[in-house]
Amino acid sequence: MAEEEKLDAIVVGAGPAGTAAAITMARAGLQVALIEKGAQPGSKNVMGGILYTHYLEQVVGDDWKTAALERPIIEEQRWMMTDQAAIRLLGYKNLRNRERPHSYSVLRARFDAWFAQKAEEAGAFVIPETVVEELILKDGRVVGVRTGREGDLLADVVVVCEGIGLGSHLLEKAGLKKPLRANQVAMAVKEIIALDPGLIEARFNCEPGEGASIECFGSATRGLSGFMFIYTNKETLSVGGGALLSEMSDVRLSRDELARRTPNALMNHFKSHPAIKPLIQGGETVEYLAKMIPEGGYKAIPKVYGPGYLVCGDAAMLSNPVHREGSNLAMESGRIAGETVIHAKEKGDFGEASLREYRMRLDRTWVMADMKKYDGAVPLLEHNPQLLGKYPRLLDLALDEFFRVDGVSKWEKQRRIVRMFRKHGGVRMILDTAKAGWTLARPFGR
Ligand SMILES: Cc1cc2nc3c(=O)[nH]c(=O)nc-3n(C[C@H](O)[C@H](O)[C@H](O)COP(=O)(O)OP(=O)(O)OC[C@H]3O[C@@H](n4cnc5c(N)ncnc54)[C@H](O)[C@@H]3O)c2cc1C
Repeated sequence: MAEEEKLDAIVVGAGPAGTAAAITMARAGLQVALIEKGAQPGSKNVMGGILYTHYLEQVVGDDWKTAALERPIIEEQRWMMTDQAAIRLLGYKNLRNRERPHSYSVLRARFDAWFAQKAEEAGAFVIPETVVEELILKDGRVVGVRTGREGDLLADVVVVCEGIGLGSHLLEKAGLKKPLRANQVAMAVKEIIALDPGLIEARFNCEPGEGASIECFGSATRGLSGFMFIYTNKETLSVGGGALLSEMSDVRLSRDELARRTPNALMNHFKSHPAIKPLIQGGETVEYLAKMIPEGGYKAIPKVYGPGYLVCGDAAMLSNPVHREGSNLAMESGRIAGETVIHAKEKGDFGEASLREYRMRLDRTWVMADMKKYDGAVPLLEHNPQLLGKYPRLLDLALDEFFRVDGVSKWEKQRRIVRMFRKHGGVRMILDTAKAGWTLARPFGR
């Protein structure tokens, strides 16, 4: 592409948001460049991850069936852990998912490469191995990008899909986004562990080709606000998790305590839990990855449009950690951004008022409804550490008493459990749990 040639749109970042935006615009005949810093799209990307096909289908139609996916998720489990127990709060094997799967495990190195190929087939110029160093502003308007390899590229619109975290600072550098606070992001790590498919199926109670997800709270993260996970891929397990960066880096804590909270320490702690160890035993770690997750909720969403630019996905802080959703908010926002640019092109107007359509449309979708609904979820955990620390331990002790067959009458066991709850703040636990339930379940807008 010749330097100074003006495109209709430049998309920064070939993650789910950027590629969805690029495909949408390229399919409408727009001249689009999709710039990715990784050697291949996906080569630097990390996700748990479970991908939701509904949103993929909205972008590529039936082609989603050829996507590089791993296993359809048939069973979802949620465990509350203490150091000596794993309480299975939820185990949901949904056999309808055999006929109508809606979520699949994915490995981003494979999925992103496939998705970017779809962008190329739609007519977008995919430019890998190229770092966008800054946004070019002229008279307060974004007019293009400066890159390390391709020089300056100009376009009517730049769609910023750079994700968040180390190396994703274009918006901040241009003064279009405030720096993130440590309680607005989680630091997450993930290992890909190679394991024989037969062993995966036996250990996770799956039929051949089918998959399961396990997410673990409480002592899994040493009580920090976050969770750890295991997802089954075809020939590997994705094992990882994370917690709020502010809780990992709290300067009031001792050096020893901080060392116990590093992502690596949490990972080792999780993998050595007696309930987890047998699931991964004999597996070989083939990759180790780290990345941030936006957890600031609705209030942390920056301005997502302005003269000559739009912001999508993680860069726009669109993520729902309670439901472990991020890739779908990224794809949906990318698709809507793409459609907004198509309308702007029809009008010949890429000014702020025209691009505001993007935010207005997002506001009317499930994306912003969900962002508002869970706005208080992460602060609730951050300010009530007992929810993932003391209360799981209390529940564990009560269950130990309840299930232990040891010559004590059931009346006496009941009395002991009630006494234990009274002594250790059981009433408070019920109130706190009800409050947490209300925060998560309250009707939209209240
Ligand atoms: C451990 C972990 C587990 C997760 N699990 C799930 C899950 O199970 N399900 C789910 O839906 N979501 C999950 N998420 C969240 C999900 O990964 C994100 O929400 C999603 O990837 C956001 O997509 P995006 O396109 O906005 O950003 P990203 O996927 O981060 O993509 C950004 C892209 O931009 C590129 N880039 C950045 N800066 C530049 C630059 N200057 N120049 C050129 N290229 C650049 C990057 O290399 C990258 O390819 C998880 C996240 C993590 C970290």
